[in-house]
Amino acid sequence: MLPQDAWIWHKLESGAREIFEASGYSEIRTPILEDTAVFTRGIGQATDIVSKEMFTFLDRKERSLTMRPEGTAPIVRAYIEHALLNVAPISKLYYIGPMFRAERPQKGRLRQFHQIGAEIIGTNSPFADIESIMQVHAMLALFGLKDFRIKLNSLGCRADKAEFADKLKDYLKDKAAGLCDDCRSRIDKNVLRVLDCKNEGCGSILTGAPGVADNLCGACGEHYEKVKLNLRSLGIGFEETKNLVRGLDYYTGTVFEITHASIGAQDAIGAGGRYDNLVKEMGGADIGAVGYALGMERIIISLLSQDIAPGAGKKVFIATLGDEAKLEGMKMARNIRDKVDMEGLAVLTDVGETSLKSQMRSADKSGADIVIIMGEDELKQGKAIVKDMSGKVPQAEVSIDAIAEEVRKRLC
Ligand SMILES: [Zn+2]
Ligand SMILES: [Zn+2]
Repeated sequence: MLPQDAWIWHKLESGAREIFEASGYSEIRTPILEDTAVFTRGIGQATDIVSKEMFTFLDRKERSLTMRPEGTAPIVRAYIEHALLNVAPISKLYYIGPMFRAERPQKGRLRQFHQIGAEIIGTNSPFADIESIMQVHAMLALFGLKDFRIKLNSLGCRADKAEFADKLKDYLKDKAAGLCDDCRSRIDKNVLRVLDCKNEGCGSILTGAPGVADNLCGACGEHYEKVKLNLRSLGIGFEETKNLVRGLDYYTGTVFEITHASIGAQDAIGAGGRYDNLVKEMGGADIGAVGYALGMERIIISLLSQDIAPGAGKKVFIATLGDEAKLEGMKMARNIRDKVDMEGLAVLTDVGETSLKSQMRSADKSGADIVIIMGEDELKQGKAIVKDMSGKVPQAEVSIDAIAEEVRKRLC
């Protein structure tokens, strides 16, 4: 994360916080390291994340620790440990931070990546699913992202999932020879994952496969219909996607994924869904929950594929020569920062011992709008030179006491 890209990180982080706080969500920060069991129990042994991608190691006391590969399982662990159910029947939580997976690094796929995510814990209501999807939609719109797509599906409750897994196994039984190696091994371990294989051969076999959402029990079918109906009423576009299953075992019911053409077909920029059994399975109450996570790196790739301009904060550069002028320059900078109330205003001072000429070059490079020049002569007269870098306003000598006001007049 290099300084030239910092503005876009800040744009995402502050935009996300704005939406979360305005919707009554509270931030939760969990540790980077967790007991490995938090993930093996929560995410599932047979998933790619647990079987191949976690950074897991023994510490000096031979305890198995894992660097969190995702945010939900640690939040549920903390939710139970700190009895958050006693604080409120429904918790609305959000997080922004790094996750770690040992994948082969490529565009949009890093071993340390960053997620913005939210969880609603304590309800089975479809309106919680709707709020999550509505929030994702609002957030991507606030970031300025265009042409993203929301894919939607329902896996049903655990019983529906098990029944569907049998049906899918039946369907694939005499077709295994045409599947890729991964999928052949998934038939017994985690057959639902065959559905989202990106291999073309597997894809063509799956076109005739049964759809998971066609196999829902009465309650799950009704839940899914309510989600779709109300999203339509809210004007939130989505595409029902029969093969959308997600790579984590804990998902049940509604699942969704957000894609953008700039990332390619392999990866989503965000995803989420219901996990109604996870809290109970990890030792807590029998309560429903729904959540999602957005990949910051992938959203940034998508945003940069559009025309997006950095926020244009104004800059003032104070160029000084000699110790006394330098000290005066620092006082002046403090004074301008205090008195000129302008969002994004940066006042830069010279902290090197370079010539005025090289300071002017630095000022130019920094993109300064105004340069204030103060050498020993100016200081003696209690004045400084104010220079407009665009050249539109003539250069002027201004009394040091009046500098902040002059800057305000020129910039605001
Ligand atoms: Zn069901
Ligand atoms: Zn396959």
